[in-house]
Amino acid sequence: MADFFQFALPHIAKLHAYTPGLQPTEPGWVKLNTNECPYPPSPRVAEALRHDLGQDAASLRLYPNPTSGPLRAMVAKLHGLREENVIIGNGSDDILNLLCRVFCGREAPLGYAFPSYSLYPVLVEIQDGTSTVVEFDRSMRLPLDRIGASKARIFFLTSPNAPTGVGFSNVEIEHVLARFHGLLVIDEAYAPFANENAVPLLARHPNAIVVRTLSKAYALAGIRVGYALAEPKLIELLDRVRDSYNVSRLSQIAALAALSDAGYYATVIGRIKATRDASVKIFSETRGWFTYPSQANFIFTEPKNARGETGPAVAKSAYDFLFSRKVLVRYFASHALTASFLRISVGTDDEMSVLHQTLDAWLKAFPNA
Ligand code: PMP
Repeated sequence: MADFFQFALPHIAKLHAYTPGLQPTEPGWVKLNTNECPYPPSPRVAEALRHDLGQDAASLRLYPNPTSGPLRAMVAKLHGLREENVIIGNGSDDILNLLCRVFCGREAPLGYAFPSYSLYPVLVEIQDGTSTVVEFDRSMRLPLDRIGASKARIFFLTSPNAPTGVGFSNVEIEHVLARFHGLLVIDEAYAPFANENAVPLLARHPNAIVVRTLSKAYALAGIRVGYALAEPKLIELLDRVRDSYNVSRLSQIAALAALSDAGYYATVIGRIKATRDASVKIFSETRGWFTYPSQANFIFTEPKNARGETGPAVAKSAYDFLFSRKVLVRYFASHALTASFLRISVGTDDEMSVLHQTLDAWLKAFPNA
């Protein structure tokens, strides 16, 4: 048997792959671990897919539109931009990957803040690139000056941030843009749940690019569609390194149908935000757990045991107990800034009731966890 690891490029042979959240296949889980939407997509999605597939799915013989042209046009219209300002990706992960291909390498460092989306360092490693990391402190406020002064050629800023849910204002982001000499990527995966978004900044700042996804607010994680908004020249560079048919036919159809139903999504987003705010109140006021103010569809909270203690062992105990009762949340053990917390995706009101009842049971079963 050949030693494939010896043949592989050295940086790939030692690569640490991204660890996605668990996707259990058996029923019965309350799944609050990967920030999916707890409600189905617009009914127009199923209708459009059925219409395209017909009885025999003959349309699938054909390749999809290679540039996702109609979808670019629709996204542009939605944001008051031109089609040349838009690129569509196979999920926003695809877009982040394209940005790394174009802008990150041995001599071209990519910057990101920690904690934020844990895919970023993996993309840098795949590219055999270098990175500069700007750490948050426990306040999780944006380290404006340190990002501004960063020598990175490109910086990934997650806003609202993950896993904390803390949102950054356009005033703060403009402060960074005024000082940073590279390209600022504002990863707005969770912006539909926030008070503000950075799209209006694009007109004033050609070194900004906004990345969005249909996976969260549009309830379409399964179809993998994301997009970026930027200057046409920047979009052109990303298009050069894109797979020829990077977005499937069914994905384009589903995305077009979803984006056409703004009223439906306004209701869904409103419901998720109301559930989130009610749950944040329970965590911080009723339980007295330190909880970051969330502008996303998840909550980052620091569990306290019955003796009022916090810490990694307490958070892990709560995680394990929830898991044993088939309530799935996310626990990031690897760093002091995250190891005492749980990240809990906002589910339906019923799912959040189950979560809170299970946490009550944990406190009873392990008062000194
Ligand atoms: N950015 C952030 C901050 C995320 O949390 C995620 C989802 N895990 C993504 C981007 C990627 O989303 P998708 O590829 O599903 O569009």
